[in-house]
Amino acid sequence: MRIIIIGGSVSGVAAAIEARKQLPDAEISLLEKGTAVGVLPNHLFWLLAKDDSCQRAYLATDKELAANYDINVYLHTTVVSLHKSHLVTRDGQVWPFDRAIIATGSGQFSTLITAHEVIEDDMKQQVNQASLVQKIDQADSIAIIGAGLLGMTFASALAHTDKHVLVFERANLPLIRYFNHDLVHTIMANASSAIDFHIGEAVDDVTAQASGQLIVTGKNSYPVDLTLLAVNTRPSTQELTESLQKNADGTIWVDDYLQTSKQHVFAIGDAIQVTFKLTGESVYLSSIANALRTARIVSHNLKQLIQKDPGTVRPYSCVLFDRWYGTVGLTLQEEMFYPKQLASYKVSLAEEEHVTLIYDTNQIVVGGQLEANHLPIEHWHHLIQMVQKGYSLDQCIVKGNYMNKLSDQDLAELEVGLDAIG
Ligand SMILES: Cc1cc2nc3c(=O)[nH]c(=O)nc-3n(C[C@H](O)[C@H](O)[C@H](O)COP(=O)(O)OP(=O)(O)OC[C@H]3O[C@@H](n4cnc5c(N)ncnc54)[C@H](O)[C@@H]3O)c2cc1C
Repeated sequence: MRIIIIGGSVSGVAAAIEARKQLPDAEISLLEKGTAVGVLPNHLFWLLAKDDSCQRAYLATDKELAANYDINVYLHTTVVSLHKSHLVTRDGQVWPFDRAIIATGSGQFSTLITAHEVIEDDMKQQVNQASLVQKIDQADSIAIIGAGLLGMTFASALAHTDKHVLVFERANLPLIRYFNHDLVHTIMANASSAIDFHIGEAVDDVTAQASGQLIVTGKNSYPVDLTLLAVNTRPSTQELTESLQKNADGTIWVDDYLQTSKQHVFAIGDAIQVTFKLTGESVYLSSIANALRTARIVSHNLKQLIQKDPGTVRPYSCVLFDRWYGTVGLTLQEEMFYPKQLASYKVSLAEEEHVTLIYDTNQIVVGGQLEANHLPIEHWHHLIQMVQKGYSLDQCIVKGNYMNKLSDQDLAELEVGLDAIG
C-alpha cells in the first residue's frame, strides 16, 4: 500500500510513525513544504526563555524517520492539488497513492490587523523559530495580542527578560476557555509584575510605523517594536483542499473515521474539527495531544475503516510563570453547554500541588484542573483517565485512584500529549 502524508509537523510525523506500526510493508512518504519535519512548536518557548534544560526540539527528524521507520521524507515539497488517487506538487511531479493523510495544520490569521509579525504555521519550522527569537532579542517592547494559552505562554517565556511586554486581551479574564475563574485569578496573582497586562482591552488595529508598530485600542495607542499575534488559530487555507467538503470555519470535513469527503483520503490534527466528548459538540482544537490522538486513530483506518473517533476530552498543559498547569474536560463556566449542573471539589495532592475536580449532579467527574510546581505526570495521567472514562467522584477521591499506577494498557488508551513520550 502506498501512503502519502501531506505536512510534516506533529500530526504528520505521528501519523507516519503510527502507520508504520500498523502496516510494516507499506510504502510511506511524508511531504513537507518547509525545511524540516517534526519540529515541536513549544520548543520556541524554551528558546525564548533561554532554558536549555529541554533538549528535545523534534518529535522525530527526517533522518530518524528514514532510519528507524523506513519513511521517505521529502522536504521543500508543497502539495498543490489532490485527485482521486494521485496528488501533484508545486514542481509538477505526480505522486500516486492508495491512501493520503492531510496534516497541513494551522496558522494565526486576522483580517482586522493590517500589519504585524504573524506567528504563522512557519513558526513551527525551526529556522523561523530561530529568526523570531532573534527579532525578539532585538526588540525592547513586544505586544502580544491574545491571552489564551499561546499568548500567556509567550508572556511567561518573556517574563524573565528585561523587555517591556504588553499583553492585550479583549475578554475580561485571560485563559477563560481553559481554567475555572478561581484558577485564572491564582495564575494572574502569580504572574510576573514585569508583564503589562491590558485585559478587557480589544485591539482595533495594528499599523506599521517607521520602526515597529502602533497598537490601537479603544483606550489608547501603544508603540511597540514587535507584535505577536496569538489569536484566531485557523486551518491554513490550501488550494489542495478545494475539492474536499469543508466546515463553515474552513476546516476539512471528516466522518467518524476521520476520512474526508474523498474516499481513502484522511485528515488530522489542526486541519479538522473533532467532537468534544463531554458535550458532543464539534470543536476546533489546536493542540499537540489532539494532533497525536487523531494521527493514531487514522493509522488504524488505513487498511479498513475500523476505529471511530471517540472524541476528545481536550487535555492541555502549560507552564505559566514558573508553575505547571493542566486542564481537561469542562470548566465550571461551561455549565451552560452541559445538561446538568456542575460543582467543583478541590484536593491537595502534595505540597503546592492541587487538583480541582468538576463533577455533575450524578457525581460524574467531567473535568479537572491540576496545578503544581513541575509536571506531576502520574497525577496528570490519572486526571485525564478519570475524565475520559467518566469516573465518579467517589472512585476518584474515596478510592484514592490517584495513588494507583496506570497499566500500560491504560496509558495506551490515554489522550495525552508529549508527556506520554518523554
Ligand atoms: C508557537 C506555538 C506554540 C505552541 N505550543 C503548544 C503547546 O505547548 N501545547 C500544545 O498542545 N499545542 C501547542 N501549539 C499548537 C500546536 O502546535 C498545534 O496544535 C500542532 O502543531 C498541530 O499539528 P499539525 O501537524 O496538525 O499542524 P501544524 O503544526 O500546523 O503543521 C502543518 C505542517 O504542514 C505543512 N504544510 C502545510 N501545507 C502544506 C502543503 N500544501 N504541502 C506540504 N506541506 C504542507 C506545514 O509546513 C507544517 O509543517 C503551539 C502552536 C504554536 C504556533
